[in-house]
Amino acid sequence: MDDHARTELEAKRAEVVAQMEQLSAPIQDQGSISFGKRVGDGTAMAVDRLTAVGAHDNLQGLLDEIGTALEAVEDGSYGRCRVCGEAIPEGRLEARPWATTCVRHG
Ligand SMILES: [Zn+2]
Repeated sequence: MDDHARTELEAKRAEVVAQMEQLSAPIQDQGSISFGKRVGDGTAMAVDRLTAVGAHDNLQGLLDEIGTALEAVEDGSYGRCRVCGEAIPEGRLEARPWATTCVRHG
């Protein structure tokens, strides 16, 4: 059981969900769209709508990965590649706590 990883993943998941809400919110806004002020914590970005759709897809993918990683925490396999079972390097987990594959299978 890795409580630190679980806490980190849940925090990240909440952050991604918040970002997705911010991205989908201004779609009704047909005029000038500035996400910059809606996205906090140094991730401020100005994106047009096409980029927003792409970003939403990316966030959805990230959300899926985080969900998979949280499942791995639950079943005790977190930190191991789900393809080959080898330990995922610590540096990779620090950069991507939701990683569930080693560098070779990522
Ligand atoms: Zn692997």
